[in-house]
Amino acid sequence: MTEGTGATSGSESAPGSFTLDSRLSGALGGRTAQAFERGFGHRTVGDLLAHYPRRYAMRGELTALASLPLDENITIIAEVIEVGERSMRARRGSIVEAKITDGTGVLTLTFFNQRWRAAELRPGRRGIFAGKVSDYKGQRQLAHPDYELFDDAAPIEAGDAAARRWAEAPIPIYPATGTLASWQIAKAVALVLDGLAALDDPLPTSVRQAKSLLAHREALELVHRPERDADWKGARRTLRFTEAFVLQTALLERRAELRTHTTAARHPVPGGALERFDAALPFTLTGDQRDVGAEIAGDLGEAVPMNRLVQGEVGSGKTVVALRAMLAVADSGGQSALLAPTEVLAGQHLRSIVKMLGPDLAAELIPTLLTGQLPLAERKKAMLRAAAGQSRIVVGTHALLGDTVSFADLGLVVVDEQHRFGVEQREALRLKGRNPPHVLVLTATPIPRTVAMTVFGDLDVSTIRELPAGRAGITSQVVPLAIRPSWRPRIWERLAEELALGRQAFVVCPAIEAKVVEDDGAGDTVARGAADDAAPRGDGPADSAAPVASVAAVLAELRAHPRFAETRIAPLHGRMSAEEKDATMRAFSAGELDVLVATTVIEVGVDVPNASAMVVVDADRFGVSQLHQLRGRVGRGGVPGLCLLVTSAVPGSLALQRVEAVAATLDGFELAQADLELRQEGDVLGATQSGGRSSLKLLRVARDGDLIAEARELAQGVLAEAGGLAGHPALAAAVRRRLDEETSGYLSKG
Ligand code: ADP
Ligand code: MG
Repeated sequence: MTEGTGATSGSESAPGSFTLDSRLSGALGGRTAQAFERGFGHRTVGDLLAHYPRRYAMRGELTALASLPLDENITIIAEVIEVGERSMRARRGSIVEAKITDGTGVLTLTFFNQRWRAAELRPGRRGIFAGKVSDYKGQRQLAHPDYELFDDAAPIEAGDAAARRWAEAPIPIYPATGTLASWQIAKAVALVLDGLAALDDPLPTSVRQAKSLLAHREALELVHRPERDADWKGARRTLRFTEAFVLQTALLERRAELRTHTTAARHPVPGGALERFDAALPFTLTGDQRDVGAEIAGDLGEAVPMNRLVQGEVGSGKTVVALRAMLAVADSGGQSALLAPTEVLAGQHLRSIVKMLGPDLAAELIPTLLTGQLPLAERKKAMLRAAAGQSRIVVGTHALLGDTVSFADLGLVVVDEQHRFGVEQREALRLKGRNPPHVLVLTATPIPRTVAMTVFGDLDVSTIRELPAGRAGITSQVVPLAIRPSWRPRIWERLAEELALGRQAFVVCPAIEAKVVEDDGAGDTVARGAADDAAPRGDGPADSAAPVASVAAVLAELRAHPRFAETRIAPLHGRMSAEEKDATMRAFSAGELDVLVATTVIEVGVDVPNASAMVVVDADRFGVSQLHQLRGRVGRGGVPGLCLLVTSAVPGSLALQRVEAVAATLDGFELAQADLELRQEGDVLGATQSGGRSSLKLLRVARDGDLIAEARELAQGVLAEAGGLAGHPALAAAVRRRLDEETSGYLSKG
């Protein structure tokens, strides 16, 4: 590169003064620091140093120009082949146009009124170019790109060692933005590295030696300023392990910290609500339900707040397990709150709880719905019942955690679907009432072990694998319209056949109206991350998004279809008011409607045994686990379910593979694993994993499972030492930084 990139700085001998916690503004100056904060959320030297290169390029390497993505910020290495200047036709001024190539394609660079560029961009010069790819009359171009030309004075051909080193040194390519190009980031990083004070290792020496890893300082140096490929490879290995180790230490620490709080132990009483409920249960619990129930009872019986996650397929009977826990708490004189992700689901939970309890227990325990959209008088009544302790089971949304709602003796909080319930919410809970409540989190999203370890490492995890016997099963079929367009009319025929048997059905669409993609939060993060690959983003350029099936369009199509002249069809989506949604769901449950054309609002918890068929239109727009959950809505009663996954995804595409994976198995755990493997970037934690300040950097849960498990074990060992974390101040500092990050997002998922 040209002078002053700082690749070899002379100031190395002077001891620096920056620590990882130093403000970037002090190190880089206010304006540059601001650019980093705006672009990446970096605030400290440590944040910037953890902005690792995305990849490394070689000076000799030419990046493929043949397929440049439109509207994306790219960084490429290429050679100038021609440069010219002309005056603009319509206005005063000049345009410099340079063509660059990598041997596979040609890209045009344009500059307005910057004649001096022509002198600099001489044919034959190579450099690194960055900018946003645009299209001008069918040609790919970069308008006003940033670039840095390689130093002519260091001929690649020369045989001396210095020249060879220069030619061999990998160039870090950083995740960049429109205002911060890759080499500008490299310069800032170099400045910070040069000014860094001595750094203690977050990894205890024993761990570092056992794993043959580099010292932290050296790893940072080599990941940002490698001289050869082996340098950054070794550095990444060290930093990746360090990341896993610090994260696991943080999670284990937090788990230990949670266990220092005390609360009231909750025991069922002989002849109490739980015993009577069990006696009246119309079925026998599955083995898994019994085992998980025993684990929960064990937790509740301790004076330490429970923090347990129960994962189990849709229909595996989690609600029963949770209800039994609530009854044990009721027996001890306490109350339980059940939090659902949406108002619709809260309403449905309440109804099914009332039904399961039966009239006597319901009269005794007064299950109560308390949501923000209740009419004021009703809400006041519900709040009184909660505050007075009359209602032993209060069902609602997150509004239940608000300041205005109080409980006489809140003993247990059950959270249905975990994703929007994080550390902060648990913290808010702890402050509610005299004793912190026990917390039980339910999720129907099967989580592979290592993901659970990373995302919920501070929770105990129970798994219900077994489905209650007597399920009729679901047949899933892909309708690949790109391959078999003639199957299209069969879709509605098949639906009509199901309805003719007296059954009900769902038709699920990704959007509400054309261009309005549903994001009412009913989906989970995992699914949303995957759906984002395919779904048009709300903030993206509208014209680049292919039209997706919408509730409005499909509803109109079905209503006009001669086969459905007698069919009662209604829409259900997040734009409807709570009352409308609730009324629609009730009507469907009562058999007054035959078909719901819906978005993912029906995803979680809907239980209508007579609903046997589901058609998912544009199925590739949904994530794997989301499709699996949707499918779980049918085949819940004694009737066999049918799920048609309609897609226009092209053969061989990842989108089609995902849909096929869903059709291939009903085992949610197997699917979760397949999903992990199908995600190239392993973006398991959703969008936050791939960028931003508080996210996983080098760690990929999909790929690094063994490493995560090993790190957890080693972290356990270190925490079990006599001094614990206090004996390792640098590790303690890294853990604190990690936990600080989480408060601003990540695991909490506000
Ligand atoms: P989940 O919450 O895991 O989706 P639910 O608790 O709602 O599952 O259970 C789904 C249905 O299965 C409910 O109608 C419930 O009454 C029924 N069910 C639960 N456990 C059993 C069991 N052991 N045997 C038979 N049916 C069961
Ligand atoms: Mg449920």
